[in-house]
Amino acid sequence: MVRIVKVVMAGDGGVGKTSLLESYKGGNLSKVTMTIGVNLMSIKVDENFSLQIWDLSGQEQYRFLIDVFFRGAKLAILVFDLSRPVTLYNLKKWAEVLKEGAGPKIPTIVVGNKKDLGKQVPDETIKEVIDSLGLPIIKYMETSALQHEGVIELFDYLKSLFSKIKPASTS
Ligand code: GDP
Ligand code: MG
Repeated sequence: MVRIVKVVMAGDGGVGKTSLLESYKGGNLSKVTMTIGVNLMSIKVDENFSLQIWDLSGQEQYRFLIDVFFRGAKLAILVFDLSRPVTLYNLKKWAEVLKEGAGPKIPTIVVGNKKDLGKQVPDETIKEVIDSLGLPIIKYMETSALQHEGVIELFDYLKSLFSKIKPASTS
């Protein structure tokens, strides 16, 4: 039996969620287009255990998917764009729908992407916003999907969180 754990990725459209997945897979960033609905990517932790990453489109017309999207998730990755402060402030809205759909105890990683474009928000502000989300934030990381910076670290960290979980005994 392969055990599958659901991990959700959320944040405003255009912050680079799909690009982070593509970058991790070694895909060509220039081929990434705006997501329609939901993308799924599977990461194998070991023989018996996989993570299924759900990547939601930020486009308004797919908001009806949000309930189904967050339900049953065991971990969340909230992504914002370091060069667009509004995407950081909007994490508050994402945190609300996340808490509603997956429960307020869901461990969450916050990712500031597009580091290559230069940081337009002070570290203090980032910390303030993260602290105000009302979620158990287990890590904050900065990445550039374009330059493949911090991407392996992000997904390796994710894997490491689950690598100690053993599948339930079937005896
Ligand atoms: P999503 O809507 O959150 O899935 O965002 P996408 O992955 O579709 O990325 C939106 C745009 O930002 C695309 O044109 C990407 O090429 C670009 N992009 C994504 N990550 C980075 C990054 O780290 N740096 C830069 N400069 N551009 C990026
Ligand atoms: Mg996308």
